[in-house]
Amino acid sequence: MTRKIVTIVGARPQFIKAAAISREILKHPGTLEEVMVHTGQHYDPNMSQVFFDELEIPVPKYNLEVSGGTHGVMTGRMLEGIEKILIDEKPNWVLIYGDTNSTLAGALAAAKLHIPVAHVEAGLRSFNMRMPEEVNRILSDRVSALLLCPTQTAVDNLALEGLIQGVHNVGDVMYDVALYYRERARASSRILETLGLVEKEFALATCHRAENTDDAVRLEGIISALAEIAREVPVVLPLHPRTKKLLQQFGLEHYLADLKVVEPLPFLDMVALEQAAKVILTDSGGVQKEAFFYQVPCITLRDETEWVETVELGWNQLVGASNAQISAAYSSLASPVRTTQVAPYGNGSASRLILEELMREY
Ligand code: UDP
Repeated sequence: MTRKIVTIVGARPQFIKAAAISREILKHPGTLEEVMVHTGQHYDPNMSQVFFDELEIPVPKYNLEVSGGTHGVMTGRMLEGIEKILIDEKPNWVLIYGDTNSTLAGALAAAKLHIPVAHVEAGLRSFNMRMPEEVNRILSDRVSALLLCPTQTAVDNLALEGLIQGVHNVGDVMYDVALYYRERARASSRILETLGLVEKEFALATCHRAENTDDAVRLEGIISALAEIAREVPVVLPLHPRTKKLLQQFGLEHYLADLKVVEPLPFLDMVALEQAAKVILTDSGGVQKEAFFYQVPCITLRDETEWVETVELGWNQLVGASNAQISAAYSSLASPVRTTQVAPYGNGSASRLILEELMREY
């Protein structure tokens, strides 16, 4: 009997994770069938289509084209669209990823139709309920039948909330992704030459979390610190559309003149830059971990992180968004003791283990 999985994606990090699982699903023709739904949350070609092309992700059967609007409008419209699809497709599983509005809409639509939900990246917590991502995670986990955790920390977080059934530590899909694309990126990307960069002599930065972009003080703290670091080494900033808009709105674009600002990058270029960087400064969850996988020191522009292992092992400094703290972390890059002996994100078989769970009889 063929099992049908409806996969819900909508944002850049979800396309990347779905690439790994879809590749694994394709190894089981006749047993598993995947129907891809793109909610439309990220719609710029360089935030969406380029990932489908480069990572060979199955073409979505449905695109709901829900983008922009408030959280309520966006999530509501997605919920309505996904429900219709699930009624038509009658899948055995709905597969959701991470912590975006697309994740929550998929979880809610499926749970109300009594379709089991499998959540990849279950159990992550920042313990900051002002983050929209934290709300999405907690609610999605609560209605999921299969909680596919990337770390033991995530398993423990769920246990604290009383969630024990259906919880599995499968390791981090992003580690599978890193292992798969690491060499491919080095072989195929020409981004270092294009940007005129020398290996280990530049910094790579990303910034897009609402807590930073929507707060003029935090955004200025970050962007001014990057401009200062740029006096010592080139700072490459693939600029997220939201950050670009808010920098303009707050009158902070002048700081960009000191940086190497580029459009959001295709994945293989990003991975090539990450591996070659001297340091990575970011508020992204995925990028913090990629820094860890590629053994590049990371400065995280947030007050808390879900990826506590990267901090505990000395690879990541959690500094917030003040100019002084970011600059201090950059100046003290040489000091932390960094451990490479521990593998908190599994052994690169998360996708396979997730598939085993999806094929198990429940
Ligand atoms: N990424 C990319 N191009 C960029 C910036 C990021 O391909 O210009 C990749 C990055 O390597 C990581 C993922 O996007 O795999 C992280 O996505 P994002 O930072 O948007 O989301 P988060 O991980 O914070 O949820």
